[in-house]
Amino acid sequence: MAYKTIVGLEIHVELATKTKAFCSCENAYGGEPNSRVCPVCLGLPGALPVLSKEVVDAAIMASLALNCEITREGGFDRKNYFYPDLTKGYQITQNTAPIGQRGHVDLEVEGQARQVGIRQVQIEEDTGKSLHTDEETLVDYNRCGVPLVEIVTEPDITSGLEARLFLEKLRATLKQIGVSDVKMEEGSLRCDVNVNIKDTETGASSTIQEVKNLNSFRGVEKAIDYEVQRQTRLMEEGREEARTTRRWDDVENATVIMREKLTGSDYRFVPEPDLDPLVVSDEWIEKVRQAMPELPDAKKARFIKDYGLSDYDAGVLTQDGDLADFFEGVAQDFKDYETLANWVTTEVLRRADYEDDRLVLPFSPGDLATLLKLIKEDKVSNNAGKKVLRIMFEEGGDPQDIVEREGLAQVQDSSMMEAWVAEVIEENPDSVADYRGGKDRVLGFLVGQVMKKSRGKANPQLVNQLLREGLKED
Ligand code: ZN
Ligand code: MN
Repeated sequence: MAYKTIVGLEIHVELATKTKAFCSCENAYGGEPNSRVCPVCLGLPGALPVLSKEVVDAAIMASLALNCEITREGGFDRKNYFYPDLTKGYQITQNTAPIGQRGHVDLEVEGQARQVGIRQVQIEEDTGKSLHTDEETLVDYNRCGVPLVEIVTEPDITSGLEARLFLEKLRATLKQIGVSDVKMEEGSLRCDVNVNIKDTETGASSTIQEVKNLNSFRGVEKAIDYEVQRQTRLMEEGREEARTTRRWDDVENATVIMREKLTGSDYRFVPEPDLDPLVVSDEWIEKVRQAMPELPDAKKARFIKDYGLSDYDAGVLTQDGDLADFFEGVAQDFKDYETLANWVTTEVLRRADYEDDRLVLPFSPGDLATLLKLIKEDKVSNNAGKKVLRIMFEEGGDPQDIVEREGLAQVQDSSMMEAWVAEVIEENPDSVADYRGGKDRVLGFLVGQVMKKSRGKANPQLVNQLLREGLKED
């Protein structure tokens, strides 16, 4: 039987605004528990919320980046539920008129172009955090009222891999526009998965199951793959199950039931009476659009066009805004873009460090430009250049100085090279005879011998040429 996997994601992203969504408490991570609270975010009787404009700006920008239409006249709703980390007894969210609707994200999955629909982007507030110990449960309300966007995809995702690639793209996009620090480990990006399978012949479907508390993109991928297998087994055994909320257990490598799923009606949504309708003008949208940094897709297209790069190189270079900036910094001084892309995607990326999710390099774009020019002008061989770069990574420093200090300058002096070539011809009579007998492959060995004598500093093309000439004689 053939089954189709159907996955939809709900992603909560904390917005990196200065204040919380509806009060002036500072929006920050961690710190002394309950040190950033006030009557509004604690939900004390009589306290009234005031919507932060910065939150709407960030939510509009996120919506635009996900190709959504912006809702011109919307507002907020109350989602009622009782939980100790939600003192008001309801969460302020957008149920009926989310700020962004009908968007999409373009992906490439195993060479195939795919598109994942974005159903909506809604503004809502975060809850506090419960801290469970053996004896008691403590609650920290610092996170209460922190602004979120909840991004809901259409059920367009067809595999665990596709879900992971979607999340990576989403994360890169949100990071690029700077609306969130999108750190899964600090909970500023959280992902819930809805997954079921459909028999493509009979049209029968398994029950949609929700998986929560996923703490990595790999975890999302594994949870989906696991659920597909589990649900396939149930379908084949003809068994049905209730709709549940499950969690991914990293130790068991399995999804485990947490509770039966609450449905929409359990939340008794009502319009939020304490906030005005949210009216967004064309000018407001245009202003946000103007302030939006270039998105990864647009940047990639520009890299292909402006620098003549391959689709692959442009993709690697633009997946991270910092790396793209670095590339462009070097490109100002070094115009052989293909060589530059090669060095950045291999030699630089291999050793690059990320601190706090930001690219940290111990040298400037200008330094790499200097090194690449030395190589281009044959002052340093390609291999010696790699050695210089390694030293730049380990100790920093000016490439020209490193070349001099380490004696890595390529030998251009042909009389010196002719002497080495003559020595090698004299020392390797068997190989020379083989070469003259028609075994061209031997030349590589002889070039290697000359390079060895030069301690890597000879220009290999020149050695090759001199050897061929030298071997012709007699
Ligand atoms: Zn507050
Ligand atoms: Mn939500």
